[in-house]
Amino acid sequence: MHEFSITQSILSIALEKANTVKASRVSQINLVIGELSGIVDECVEFYFDFLSKDTIAAQASLSFHHPPTRLRCRNCAAVFSPNNLNWVCPNCHGPKIEILSGRECYVESIEVE
Ligand SMILES: [Zn+2]
Repeated sequence: MHEFSITQSILSIALEKANTVKASRVSQINLVIGELSGIVDECVEFYFDFLSKDTIAAQASLSFHHPPTRLRCRNCAAVFSPNNLNWVCPNCHGPKIEILSGRECYVESIEVE
């Protein structure tokens, strides 16, 4: 269900942008979805097919970009990307970690005809 509402907003953003430039068709939607967002590409694609029916985005292909997770140690301020789910600072081995990026989810751009 998480992906359903996200896909609804992706579609409405795409349609709104397409409308602004008076496009007749949306051919591609470029999405940025962080690894930590918990969003599954296949679910978004599934819902998109369903939701975009009868819209000018019906034939659009979705392109998923997954930026790497970036974390910062609260103890020594080292910035790193985790290579597993065990988030420990590689510098000082401190366990207090904050998330810099990885939870994003947005429409980066669309391509229209
Ligand atoms: Zn550290």
